[in-house]
Amino acid sequence: MTQTIFMVGARGAGKTTIGKALAQALRYRFIDTDLFMQQTLQSSVAELVAREGWDGFRLRESMALQTVTAAKTVVATGGGAVLSQDNRIFMRNYGLVIYLRASANVLAGRLAEDPEDTQRPSLTGKPIVEEMLDVLASREALYQEVAHHVLDATQSPEEVVEHILQILSDEKVK
Ligand code: ADP
Ligand code: MG
Repeated sequence: MTQTIFMVGARGAGKTTIGKALAQALRYRFIDTDLFMQQTLQSSVAELVAREGWDGFRLRESMALQTVTAAKTVVATGGGAVLSQDNRIFMRNYGLVIYLRASANVLAGRLAEDPEDTQRPSLTGKPIVEEMLDVLASREALYQEVAHHVLDATQSPEEVVEHILQILSDEKVK
């Protein structure tokens, strides 16, 4: 069965990087819900949050998630998509959910080096490591709950992709 593969995890976990590489390896379509929203709504995440607040953003994110879900598609979800129970149920029902797991230190280190991700406004205004600690503390259980598989996101992207391909081939023979 061809299904949707959902990448979940905090900012910096590698959802976009790994999702793209995985899609390429599988010849699947790749979609980033943040990017999809930016393109369809003609505004950045920051603009959207400024205009509609986080609740408005989350509502649009849920709609985007459902819109992009299709066979032979890898979806990189927004880091907070798991906060919605509807989103968690949706992803578990419609696809294979992969949690890319890394420590707050690793995530913060990556984000500090990645200017692209500064587009997303800080949730709290705190230093990035503290923010990542808070984010993981409040979301770790949700990531674990929604995930069919939890992967070590501190491995190289190639290793993580290889691991997911192995999972997919194991599922086929079951
Ligand atoms: P996300 O989409 O989950 O926010 P990204 O894919 O944008 O994460 O990755 C964030 C940053 O971390 C990027 O600079 C990316 O190159 C780097 N990165 C992602 N995955 C890995 C990895 N497995 N090992 C090392 N660096 C990585
Ligand atoms: Mg991303």
